[in-house]
Amino acid sequence: MSESQETLSNLLQETRRFPPPAELAESANVTAEAYERAAEDRLGFWAEQADRLSWSKRWDEVLDWSNPPFAKWFVGGELNIAYNCVDRHVENGHGDRVAYHWEGEPGDSRTLTYADLQKEVSKAANALLELGVRKGDRVAVYMPMIPELPISMLACARIGATHSVVFGGFSADALRTRIEDAEAKLVITADGGYRRGKPSALKPTVDEAVQNTPSVEKVLVVRRTGEQVEQHERDVWWHDLVDRQDDTHTPEPLDSEHPLYILYTSGTTGKPKGILHTTGGYLTQVAYTHHAVFDLKPETDVYWCSADIGWVTGHSYIVYGPLANGATSVMYEGTPDTPHRGRWWEIIQKYKVSIFYTAPTAIRTFMKWGDDIPAQYDLSSLRVIGSVGEPINPEAYVWYREHIGADRCPVVDTWWQTETGAIMISPLPGVTAGKPGAAMRPLPGIVADVVDDQAQPVPNGGGGFLTLQEPWPSMLRTIWGDDERYVKTYWSRFEGLYFAGDGAKKDEDGDIWLLGRVDDVMLVSGHNISTTEVESALVSHPKVAEAAVVGATDPLTGQAIVAFVIPRGSAGEDVEGEDFLKELRNHVAHTLGPIAKPRQIMIVPELPKTRSGKIMRRLLRDVAENRSIGDVTTLADSTVMNLIAEKLPSAK
Ligand code: ATP
Ligand code: MG
Repeated sequence: MSESQETLSNLLQETRRFPPPAELAESANVTAEAYERAAEDRLGFWAEQADRLSWSKRWDEVLDWSNPPFAKWFVGGELNIAYNCVDRHVENGHGDRVAYHWEGEPGDSRTLTYADLQKEVSKAANALLELGVRKGDRVAVYMPMIPELPISMLACARIGATHSVVFGGFSADALRTRIEDAEAKLVITADGGYRRGKPSALKPTVDEAVQNTPSVEKVLVVRRTGEQVEQHERDVWWHDLVDRQDDTHTPEPLDSEHPLYILYTSGTTGKPKGILHTTGGYLTQVAYTHHAVFDLKPETDVYWCSADIGWVTGHSYIVYGPLANGATSVMYEGTPDTPHRGRWWEIIQKYKVSIFYTAPTAIRTFMKWGDDIPAQYDLSSLRVIGSVGEPINPEAYVWYREHIGADRCPVVDTWWQTETGAIMISPLPGVTAGKPGAAMRPLPGIVADVVDDQAQPVPNGGGGFLTLQEPWPSMLRTIWGDDERYVKTYWSRFEGLYFAGDGAKKDEDGDIWLLGRVDDVMLVSGHNISTTEVESALVSHPKVAEAAVVGATDPLTGQAIVAFVIPRGSAGEDVEGEDFLKELRNHVAHTLGPIAKPRQIMIVPELPKTRSGKIMRRLLRDVAENRSIGDVTTLADSTVMNLIAEKLPSAK
């Protein structure tokens, strides 16, 4: 191990530990034994998990890895995902169980039981068939967070059409390139949805996007807001077509490797990639991980994942995983601050949510808004709380545990990607003594390790590149239409290993801490320093809610640390002054060592984020290095960069 790696791995000292509550440990779905079982016979272990599903034809072989990195799982097996997610629960006597408590932003709500869902999905499947959609065709879905979104996805899965859900916040351009890439035959959309207290139109964006997309034959439109929409010949109203369909439909058995969906990555680092997921392996792993990581008890739990279905988190943990397990879920249409900043906690109180899954960006926003807001609600129903999307700063973890989880609920920090399809590294809530900021260990059946630049595993205490060392059931099968890019992007950096792009360290116990993207690692006076650790040090200051750190070229040190900081709501007035900035710089030096002291700190009102809520450091690097700002098409709010740029002169 080189000296620089040592620096990278020894900065942050975090000694707090949170063992599982005894009651949870005693009745946990998955115990420590699962790690041993999977280590003994990984493929046998995954076959047992596949047996949690219902197969119309059993597989001949668990894994075909004869042509790496192109994997086939449960070869020769046949199943239907919609049948597994819906019909079989009805057949097993759970038709009356609620599948979704749906909450609209304006306060309207809908309850869909599994029996309701079976009828709705069947009608939608019959409607797709009437529109000429067939097995293997692609369907683009551009919708708000309304029940017709999962219904459309399941209807596609039912007939073997491959869906490509595009996040409803994307522009016409972004939608068009995704429609073109997938050559979608049908687009399913809505007139609009509610966001921040008012209708937000979607249909005009679709109209613009499909002007020159010859593959699109029809546009199926759900009426949600009732706002006026332009009518084109290709348009069909959902209520005209779907409502009159027969509410029974026989699901078609599909090959285990049948393409279920294409989904584009968030675009944090650049141009999004069309990730392809298939059927049997995908459902096996999302169902197992949802059962294991959230300890779901379908009879009693109420589960809520606050993500948008337009991201992989929503695909795997709002739609496929929870439904495969027969869960009762909450689904919410709008933003967390509408009509007030306690909306989410009000929803948890209303539905007695027991399992909650959200992102660090949301947690840090709530920290910024103040502790008094969640304190006004009864959150005592919660028992497991999760995080995904970015490394969670230890202070954000502890805040989440204390203020949302009553200092009782285990926090599961789940590391995974669009490409992995399902959670890969995470605590198990009934087994793991959690460490704030650590994703801990690969789940049973997953083989991951941190390696050096020669692909050798680093010893405990070392840092390097996070790799996946064995194929896993829900792995991406390729980048849609571009096998070569698939091989080059993920399998070329280290021979035979999948490289995710993230840096990580292993602590003295061998537990894994994510350090952010390797592209973001800073090189300061010959020392590798991770952005995550400096950000976490900043967030550990009581007046800081959120921080983003980048390395800017510096004549003296090679790179110098530049930090962008959002103060907490309760921080008071004096956060603009030189004294405060000095205090923060000293705080970092004190926490991590003088080498990590930022050259410059800027107080900003917002940070540039992708639409999925991840900080886009490459844009901040442009600011810090006085360059014109790069591609902002995946940015959630383009005005943020202007706000930050205005701040720059005074901060220098
Ligand atoms: P693109 O690949 O287009 O740049 P993206 O990587 O942001 O976009 P996603 O697949 O949504 O798209 O995000 C996966 C990434 O999110 C991971 O590679 C990792 O960097 C980060 N991430 C997700 N969960 C965690 C976590 N629990 N801890 C640390 N990082 C996480
Ligand atoms: Mg990525």
